[in-house]
Formats: sequence, C-alpha cells, structure tokens
Amino acid sequence: MIEKIKHFEKIALQLEPSSEQRASLMDEVLRYSEDFLNRIYQIPAYVSTEDKGKDILLSPIVEHGAEISSLIKLIEHNVDRPGLNPASGGHLGYIPGGGIYFSALGDYLASIFNRYAGIYFAGPGAVRMEHMLLDWMSEIVGLPKTAGGNLTSGGSIANLIGIVAARDAQNLKAKDFDRSVIYLTAQVHHSVDKAIRIAGLKECILRYIPMDLNYRMDALQLERQIAADKKSGLNPFLIIASAGTTDTGSVDPLTVIAQISKQNNLWLHVDGAYGAFFVLCDDGKKILRGMEEADSLVMDPHKGLFLPYGSGAVLVRDKKKLFDSFWYQANYMQDALKAQDELSPADISPELTKHFRGLRLWLPLKLVGVAPFRAALEEKLLLARYFYDEIKKIEGFEGGPFPDLSVVTYRYVPKKGDAEKFNEMLVKEVQNDGRVFISSTMLDGKFTLRLAVLSFRTHLATIDLLLEILKEKVKLLNS
Ligand SMILES: *Cc1c(COP(=O)(O)O)cnc(C)c1O
Repeated sequence: MIEKIKHFEKIALQLEPSSEQRASLMDEVLRYSEDFLNRIYQIPAYVSTEDKGKDILLSPIVEHGAEISSLIKLIEHNVDRPGLNPASGGHLGYIPGGGIYFSALGDYLASIFNRYAGIYFAGPGAVRMEHMLLDWMSEIVGLPKTAGGNLTSGGSIANLIGIVAARDAQNLKAKDFDRSVIYLTAQVHHSVDKAIRIAGLKECILRYIPMDLNYRMDALQLERQIAADKKSGLNPFLIIASAGTTDTGSVDPLTVIAQISKQNNLWLHVDGAYGAFFVLCDDGKKILRGMEEADSLVMDPHKGLFLPYGSGAVLVRDKKKLFDSFWYQANYMQDALKAQDELSPADISPELTKHFRGLRLWLPLKLVGVAPFRAALEEKLLLARYFYDEIKKIEGFEGGPFPDLSVVTYRYVPKKGDAEKFNEMLVKEVQNDGRVFISSTMLDGKFTLRLAVLSFRTHLATIDLLLEILKEKVKLLNS
C-alpha cells in the first residue's frame, strides 16, 4: 500500500514544477508573448489560412508530456495565427476591446492563488474586491447604494441574469406567460432574445417597438403600445432598452423610457454591454442619461474597459431582487451560511465555483487609474465622429446616421451597377487585405458597412489607414 502510494506520488509530482522548471517555462511563455506585443501594431488584423488551425487535431492528448517550445509553436501556428486578431487595433469589425496587458497579470495571480470568489466565507477579500468593483460601476452609472450585481463571463449571461430577476421581481407565473408582454426593438442584441428563451419566457408576447431614423426606440409608440395592451387585458411587465446597440451604436431615449416604465410599474432592463462604460466620459454621460434609472443594467468590461474576453457585469437596482432569484442552500455549505455579513456571489448569480474575475479588473484600474480608460473612451468617440466626417468626403460614400457612440454605418454607392454586390465585394477585399478588419450588416434591407471603434489600440493612424484602404479598394473594384 505505502509503496503504491509513493509510486503514484512520484508521477503525480509532475504537476508541481520546481522553481527552475517554472523559470524556464516562464521564460518561453514570456518570449512568445513579448514578441507578439512588440509586433502588435504591425501584424494583420485578419489572416485567412488554408488549414484554419486544423493541425491542432493532429497532436492528440496522450499520457506523456511535451516540451513547452513545441507546444508554443503549435499554439502559434494553429490558434494565434488564423482568423481574426482581436488584440489588434485594426480590429474594427465586431465590438472589439483588445485585451489589456495588466489583466493578464491579474489572471496570472488569480490562477496561482486560486482564491474562491464564489462564497464570502471562503474568500472574503476576493468577494469584497468583486463587490467593490460592482459598487464602483454603480457609482459611475449613478445607481443607488441599494444596487448590487455580478461579474459575469460576458454580456449574454448578464442579460440572462437581469431578465430572470425581472421575471421573478414582477412575480410572473407560468400561467401568466402567454398574456405577459415584453417591449424591445428589432435592434436589441440576439443574446437578449436567447435570454428570454432560456428564462422560459418564449411564450410571452414580444412587442418590437418601431424605431426612429437613428434606430432608437420610439418612446411615443412604446407608451401607446403599453396603454393598448393594458386596455386589452394583457400584462405588460418588462421593457428592454439598449444603451448602445451592436449594429449601429444607437442609444434608446432612456430618460423617457424610464418614466414610461415607472408610470406603468414595468421593469426596465438596459443592455449596455457595448455602450455603458462610455458613461466615464462627459459626452457619453450626456448621451446615456437615463441609464441610472434602470432596474437592471448590463455592462461588459471586456468591451468598454478593454479587458480580455470573459468579463461582463450585471447590476440590479435592488440587489435583494437578485438574491430572491438566485439564493441557494446545500447541507455541505452550512459553515458558509453562518458568515453572511456580505452576500456571496453564489447567492446572487447562477454560478457557484467560478473564475476570480475581480482581479483582472481591479489590477488595471488600480495600476493606471481611471484616467487612461476615460481618455481612451473619449478618443474612441471622437475617432468614430472623425471617420463619419471623412468617409463622406470620399466620392461615392454615404454615411448612415450621426453616431451616438463609436459605431458608424456607411456604404458605397457606385455610379452604375449593383450597390449591394459592390459593398459585399468591398468588405471582402478589405478583409482579405487583412491590415484592418471591418464588418457589414443589413439595415433596412440594404447591405451596409460597419465601423466599430472600441479597441484600446485603435488610434488616429488606424482610422486614416482604413480610409486609405477603402479608397484603394474602391478604385480597384471600379477599374
Ligand atoms: C456584445 C453584446 C452582448 C453580448 O455580450 P457577450 O459579452 O458577447 O456575451 C449583448 N448586448 C450587446 C449590446 C452587445 O454589444
């Protein structure tokens, strides 16, 4: 028996590298990541390769380990090369972020110490840190002291949590679902539709409220629809507004919507996954006015604070409402339940054991302060407006509505031929070129190009490069 234990112990000890082994592993990892960071402003934003990383499958998981250098080569070729490069400032397509370096250090420490951030009893300091960050977010938005929330993996889960809290706070029962009404627009993020379904609410009536020319919810139509629904005996219970839509960056008229919501005793859920952190700058704060009236609010640090992926947040105006939906009990948790002077994330979210997400947000904010984040957001707003002005100066291009935040829609109208096809080819040309990455969308049935500026590495030179590339490709396609 003892001999057997010792035998296994010896093999299992490979899980604990010596300090020399740690140093040499770290050396290789640092060399690889430093090389990437030193070249980040030169490497392409998009790379299309034939193999699309499929060699990773040729190297199966087996009994014995391999050298770190050979593994880094595998990662480099198959993972870090093909496809979109979200760390690049040239990523101007979806809602980028970039992934700030300081967060990597936070994640490193969080992984080494592996503090338990799910339960206050187990990781009191870790939980306090996460709650402090959520309190800071509440404060910058202007939510009251009663607010609380969760650091989530992203906006999708944050939307789900908000919608589940709304369902329970409005005391919705299964028998009410098919006469209960949710108000939203056709521009809400698809994660909202998904969250409605996951929350069991797919039988509810969804009222897609018409939008104005800037794709913002028409508040007058909202008010009329709620009145009409009440009159016909339905049960309006939830409004879902956007503080920055993904497609066009539009901000719904939140102040008026909040008033309508209050007058009718509805729950106002605001999806600010993309836009909410613009509240840090003066212009953004004005545009987002009314966001502080939300009953629940989603904001993504992996978008608006440029963190690496895996960081969203939900705030709920009255954190008791979160507890009502997500509290739990288990016999084996009885020691934890006694230490309840701070709510545990596990009691106000669907998760129990989770990544200690706080440190990757706390460390950057403490290391550099809020000012550089504020300035970066201010810069992105201005870059979007700069592009909006400049693109219209290039012959043939037309701009969509003036950008509320940092998304600009535009398209090229060729003198002759099919505009749809032309724009489709144009976006492909830019993507294949790879120096920058842009995306497209359908707006009012028209193929439309989209610029989304939110990488912390996107600066004036990047936007000027995009303008040059667009000119170049238009010329090419017209020749
Ligand atoms: C990105 C986004 C989401 C989804 O967030 P994830 O972090 O990708 O899960 C939801 N709403 C809006 C407006 C978004 O831009």
